[in-house]
Amino acid sequence: MAAHKLLLLPGDGIGPEVAAEMEKVAGFLAQAGVAQFEIERGLVGGIAYDTHGQAISEADMKLAHEADAVMFGAVGGPKWDAVPYDVRPEAGLLRLRKDLALFANLRPAICYPALADASSLKREIVEDLDIMIVRELTGGVYFGEPKQIIDLGNGQKRGIDTQVYDTYEIERIGRVAFELARKRKNKVTSSEKRNVMKSGVLWNEVMTALHKREYSDVALEHQLADSLGMQLVRWPKQFDVIVTDNLFGDMLSDVAAMLTGSLGMLPSAALGEVNPKTGKRKAMYEPVHGSAPDIAGKGIANPIAMIGSFGMALRYSFGLVEAADMIEKAVSAVLDSGLRTADIKGQAASTVSTTEMGDAILGELKKLA
Ligand code: NAD
Repeated sequence: MAAHKLLLLPGDGIGPEVAAEMEKVAGFLAQAGVAQFEIERGLVGGIAYDTHGQAISEADMKLAHEADAVMFGAVGGPKWDAVPYDVRPEAGLLRLRKDLALFANLRPAICYPALADASSLKREIVEDLDIMIVRELTGGVYFGEPKQIIDLGNGQKRGIDTQVYDTYEIERIGRVAFELARKRKNKVTSSEKRNVMKSGVLWNEVMTALHKREYSDVALEHQLADSLGMQLVRWPKQFDVIVTDNLFGDMLSDVAAMLTGSLGMLPSAALGEVNPKTGKRKAMYEPVHGSAPDIAGKGIANPIAMIGSFGMALRYSFGLVEAADMIEKAVSAVLDSGLRTADIKGQAASTVSTTEMGDAILGELKKLA
């Protein structure tokens, strides 16, 4: 069995605490003969700055390029608030995304029935929700030029950001969405603002043409981004895969995330292009949450987002779909049993620690394997 090469970058704050639980799951899968992993370790964020004076070292970037998947914990914290801008902890994350050309951000929003009451919406609206937001991550208004503030000389200034998308950028993110939909409920909702933005007109045209040319077996609908925001909180279960640009995706994925309750539950993936020679793609998997300095070191962080991110690596980088399903079932079973970390306590009488939650998920995995 060929070993999958993982680079583990636990980072700062609760990053190392939740990464340790993810490693236990990887260790169990190896022991059970499901897959072999070759795990390298590196530093990112504040800890990398303290060690190397950089948010990620060249040596660790090299390991990231060589890995089949990067597992990223979280970075940042008040200790590094005053470090120079270009070596601040988040610069490590941005460099990884940029240098690995991770253009597709996948953010599933899944609401486990046991946690439906933690949502701000009614149980019937979110229970069993399972949607996937595909956000374009390397283009659009966050990167377009010109991007500046100019002094108009009359006491006024002008701030400029530029929304730019080329055909190939829309096509490649579209392909990710259509391919995902084929393995799910076979529906894609593409979202932009074609009523007021030229980039939206092009986005709509390119998605429509791509659909007609390569994916006519998948249902495609278009929704204006403002209307989509409304529909997401009105009846989110109407969606399967939502594909949208960097800016709208940033906001809509946060809205979708909060439908499901806690930040500690949410995994994500960032994928690059498929290499035609190897059939592999660069990929990084990380929980949506940050380093949570308020609870770091207390051993109470919820490891489910990190373990779920590892599940996404199994599914999207290694093709280990059954093992990924098994992780989701184990998490679901643990939640059904009433076990809760503090962030998802709800009405529970008591809470468990990070390691107790990790061990409980392992226990369920052992039963399922
Ligand atoms: P955060 O996600 O770290 O925390 C927000 C709140 O959610 C906190 O109350 C925290 O305790 C809680 N929380 C988050 N993850 C949790 C978990 N797994 N279990 C239990 N509770 C959890 O966001 P923040 O407080 O805005 O930022 C803290 C630091 O993290 C900042 O330095 C910020 O820049 C950084 N950050 C990093 C990333 C990343 O590494 N990808 C993302 C967001 C924020």
